[in-house]
Amino acid sequence: FLPQEIIRKKRDGGVLSKEEIQFFVKGITDNSVSEGQIAALAMAVFFNDMSMDERVAFTLAMRDSGEVLDWKSLNLPGPVMDKHSTGGVGDVVSLMLGPMIAACGGFVPMISGRGLGHTGGTLDKFDSIPGYSTVPTNEKFRDVVKNVGVAIIGQTASLAPSDKRFYSIRDVTATVESVAMITGSILSKKLAAGLDVLAMDVKAGSGAFMPTYEKSVELAESIVKVGNGAGTLTSALLTDMNESLSPWAGNAVEVRGAIDYLTGKFRPARLHEVTMALCAEMLVMGKLAANEADARAKLQHALDSGEAAERFSRMVAALGGPADLVENMDKHLEKAPIVVPVPAPRAGYAASTVCRDIGLAVVSLGGGRRRPTDAIDFAVGLTDLVELGQPLQAGQPLAMVHARTQEAAEQAVREVQAAYTIADAAPVANPIVYRTIR
Ligand code: URA
Repeated sequence: FLPQEIIRKKRDGGVLSKEEIQFFVKGITDNSVSEGQIAALAMAVFFNDMSMDERVAFTLAMRDSGEVLDWKSLNLPGPVMDKHSTGGVGDVVSLMLGPMIAACGGFVPMISGRGLGHTGGTLDKFDSIPGYSTVPTNEKFRDVVKNVGVAIIGQTASLAPSDKRFYSIRDVTATVESVAMITGSILSKKLAAGLDVLAMDVKAGSGAFMPTYEKSVELAESIVKVGNGAGTLTSALLTDMNESLSPWAGNAVEVRGAIDYLTGKFRPARLHEVTMALCAEMLVMGKLAANEADARAKLQHALDSGEAAERFSRMVAALGGPADLVENMDKHLEKAPIVVPVPAPRAGYAASTVCRDIGLAVVSLGGGRRRPTDAIDFAVGLTDLVELGQPLQAGQPLAMVHARTQEAAEQAVREVQAAYTIADAAPVANPIVYRTIR
């Protein structure tokens, strides 16, 4: 094969063979195809798309460009499962879902990512726990998955390395927004973890990565077809991201929230519903529950018995964090020096948010990155975010801002105020889970 002939074929609307795709992806990995050729292929795919068969071949070739974890030799007494979200604000689900699934008999080797743009990243949240290692040795990772049932760690350079090069070129050539390439990018990384089961949480709404509801559906359908086509039982929930999923957006503030959720101190309804729905889907797919009702009963028991909180605690300790984090989080998690309310500018109902701008307010506070190399301030963020539909008096808090400086606090107050629309009438509530795509 010649790279330029593969590019020409796609440019002219042709369908690439598995072998052509494998050749090109190998060239991405070993640098034998140039940056210009990769950019040209990306643009050709952007315009002429890929069939489902091409997407499966592309995903598998990218997955196989590096290490693929193999759990068979451990003889785990349950399925290997994970969840992946397309990203959002206040989406702390992974921190509870992993321990909940482990408590119900699943094994969760979760390889998570950093925040991107206005969205938070699970990896950044775990970095706010002192001592917790998100880059353990492979052996340690396997041990924790085997013994605790869940380990949440960071991307290693050895998993799907072709995606790293391909994504960095797409990022600067206006070719990120292609459902075919997003599918391959997300799934190659996830499937390299050697999963039997994958639940996708595809967000829709003003804080979602995809720009419209229809595009979110298209991505969910593509991921489900390609995941299953690649041999991992995959389904997707389409969930609402028109407002923060939880009352907390930041890093340490979300870890605190997750611990309160696991211990039963406070389980916000929207967050609970999305967490339970995703967990239930996984338990049914993994045959750890007979049906959704059975799955929900098992999950509720895992929470109420303290088993899920216990798994979280053991995971944190096994990966180097404080053994008493759950009991003494105030001792270990950083707190911001300045905490101020965001007064509602008028009376009425919280009618809508530009959810993306809520995420960007967290970034402005220092809780996210403007550039990939930026350091994160783990202590800052928002808490007590009011849900849509809530009646408000003028001056009543829309949220609490946790800031490093007075100036940053004042700016965040203005940003959060601007992100909320307050109306005279209560809004029609959005569904929390729009659809399940299997
Ligand atoms: N996230 C990914 O990992 N890949 C994409 O292509 C887009 C979002």
